[in-house]
Amino acid sequence: MEYNAHFSCVRGCPGEHSLYTVIYACPDCGGLLQVRHNLKALRRRGPQAWKQLMDARVGSTEWPYGSGVWGMREWVVPDLQDHNVVSMYEGNSNLFWAERLGAKLGMPNLWVKLCGNSHTGSFKDLGMTVLVSVVKQMMASGSPVRAVACASTGDTSAALAAYAAAAGIPAIVFLPSDRVSRAQLIQPIANGAHVLALETDFDGCMHIVRKVTQDNSIYLANSMNSLRIEGQKSVAVEIVRQFDWEAPDWIVMPVGNLGNISALYKGFQLMKDLGIITRMPRLAAAQAARANPFYQSFRNGFKEKVSLSAQSTLASAIQIGNPVSYEKAVQAIRNTDGIVEEASEHELANAGALADRTGMYTCPHTAVALAVLFKLLRKGKIDPGRKVVVISTAHGLKFTRAKLGYHHGTLEDVESEHMNPLLTLPADAGAVKTAIERTLEAHA
Ligand SMILES: *Cc1c(COP(=O)(O)O)cnc(C)c1O
Ligand SMILES: [Zn+2]
Repeated sequence: MEYNAHFSCVRGCPGEHSLYTVIYACPDCGGLLQVRHNLKALRRRGPQAWKQLMDARVGSTEWPYGSGVWGMREWVVPDLQDHNVVSMYEGNSNLFWAERLGAKLGMPNLWVKLCGNSHTGSFKDLGMTVLVSVVKQMMASGSPVRAVACASTGDTSAALAAYAAAAGIPAIVFLPSDRVSRAQLIQPIANGAHVLALETDFDGCMHIVRKVTQDNSIYLANSMNSLRIEGQKSVAVEIVRQFDWEAPDWIVMPVGNLGNISALYKGFQLMKDLGIITRMPRLAAAQAARANPFYQSFRNGFKEKVSLSAQSTLASAIQIGNPVSYEKAVQAIRNTDGIVEEASEHELANAGALADRTGMYTCPHTAVALAVLFKLLRKGKIDPGRKVVVISTAHGLKFTRAKLGYHHGTLEDVESEHMNPLLTLPADAGAVKTAIERTLEAHA
């Protein structure tokens, strides 16, 4: 095999580990692992040839290249066998030109990458297709793994449950009781996962799943498992490809456990290493003010990692107090001259509602990123003339309660500035006509 990859320590300890062994941390220092590719082999193909290859695979009917992730398989898990790929043709999501929202902000070049338009409704599908495929290959070659498990704020468990069900592999998911949306709760139940609701928060669930997966027959599917990062980095590649192989100036994205920002950074870095792009975009990480350990760490100059007990936020998928991929994310921010900013409940809810008025259907996490973008524009940190991509991480349909609350005006600490109240009228044509006239006048 010309191309190959293995796990190695992010802190640079020596040693390589097969992607098909059960290992989540460096045996020497306990640090996170990353998937390291054989760059020398990858560089034998020039940037032009790589671009052509990837372009040709988009929308392909040849298994598994129609997937946005497996269309770049040489950069993901090069030696995975076709029949072990567990794919739902994830990725290749729309890069939406936010023309009307951009016009309101004086930004002609505002784009939203709709990663939530995917099989289970979030970007987590991109990582799970890789992880579950590797597990399938491990099990096929006699590994002791019997099941996959994860702790989740909702979307990870939905993705794991779906991909595991598609592969016929048992899944066990740990959810913080009463802290995920109803849509997110029912997804893994419907897919037949063993769903355990624990009376704790996400960080508490993470603690338990790490204990449970010390038994090597239960494979850990959280993003400290860097196989997920390999799939998620396809978002960076897709964005660049969708701009005809040019990097944007800024990426603004919501962050919780810090896996996804590490993934995008890794994707951009790989393209730079291969000569496909010449400069890195700057990364802006967006946090909910009620769950902002990374923001606080940034404010102290990353002198030390801040961990805290995350407070309840509408952005429930990033309600995390002790982010696992901290070290990788610090690198991503430092090496791209990046920024970390926060948004209050009021700011995020109104930012999301404003975007919805221009045709989007934002989830609360995407709304955090939008609110942070508005703030960075106001502060002069982002120039409105720049090409900016906001990462939309999940589909708004998973978060109906938050949206209903907004338009009913019942959300705590939120004043709904773009409320669109439902009109209830008698079945009387005269009354209806009067009401229509009134709303159209208000619109004009
Ligand atoms: C998981 C998730 C995030 C955060 O990603 P991290 O890798 O944990 O930083 C953001 N938004 C949504 C909708 C998610 O599901
Ligand atoms: Zn190490």
